[in-house]
Amino acid sequence: MASDLHTHTRCSDGLLNPEELIEAAKEAGLNYIAITDHDTVNGVCQLYEAGLYPAKGIKIIPGIEFSAHHETQEIHILGYNIDIYDKNLTDRLNDVVEGRWTRFSSMVQKLQEMEYDISETDVLEIAGDSTSISRSHIAQALVRKGYFHTVKECFDEVLEKGRPAYVSHYLLQPEEIIDLIKQSGGIPVLAHPKLIKDDALVEHLLKQGIEGVEAFYPKHSPEDTERYVAMANKYNLMITGGSDFHGIEGRMPKKLGEFSIEDSYAAEIYREPNI
Ligand code: AMP
Ligand code: MN
Ligand code: MN
Ligand code: MN
Repeated sequence: MASDLHTHTRCSDGLLNPEELIEAAKEAGLNYIAITDHDTVNGVCQLYEAGLYPAKGIKIIPGIEFSAHHETQEIHILGYNIDIYDKNLTDRLNDVVEGRWTRFSSMVQKLQEMEYDISETDVLEIAGDSTSISRSHIAQALVRKGYFHTVKECFDEVLEKGRPAYVSHYLLQPEEIIDLIKQSGGIPVLAHPKLIKDDALVEHLLKQGIEGVEAFYPKHSPEDTERYVAMANKYNLMITGGSDFHGIEGRMPKKLGEFSIEDSYAAEIYREPNI
């Protein structure tokens, strides 16, 4: 049987709302699914408050994906089994999400100065009720307006770190993220290490209190996976994996279940909900 420990909902930059995601996961035959939205636990809260977590027929793991501060690289840290109502965690998340709103305005302004005819409303139409506003929403708005063929092309030309419309937002340091996850009862896992593009930095991060490595990831080659599994073993860390499903047009995987991992990895992470 199959599992997926990395997925997004409309609460960050995914397409499906949490309820639809769980339905899609059941249809795909997944046994375990983790919801790991960027800088928010709203998706898991929505399920819980609608009486849909815990769920029948599938084991849901409450999760999150933090973006960490770094000068040049993109570092993402997953947190599993965090207490979604932990006051310290939700306070810090509010700070981060607020920073995302300021940064969103600055990026739209920069794009306007670059002569792109785009408004905050154009982006908000795509973001819907997401509180964790993202470059991904801006990219989709620019594609919809016909400036780029794909979201990827838009990132490559203007939105990537170092490109002209990029603006950083308020980001926590990796060490603070790791501590926040742990003090709210969670397991910190280094997300998609290949995307950090620097294995020396990956190894450095693994020594900062991280407890798992996302070795299985769609953009990892079999050799990458083997290397990260070996690194996890070297530092005695858990091995995880997930599809990073967003459901956005043109982004792989298209369907939930297309990329999955063995249940045994998810079973190691899963805790019975005590609510
Ligand atoms: P943000 O968290 O606002 O900095 O935006 C980053 C999000 O944009 C990521 O979570 C991805 O979903 C998406 N993203 C980042 N880089 C790319 C890329 N090169 N192509 C497509 N989507 C990307
Ligand atoms: Mn994303
Ligand atoms: Mn990520
Ligand atoms: Mn992700």
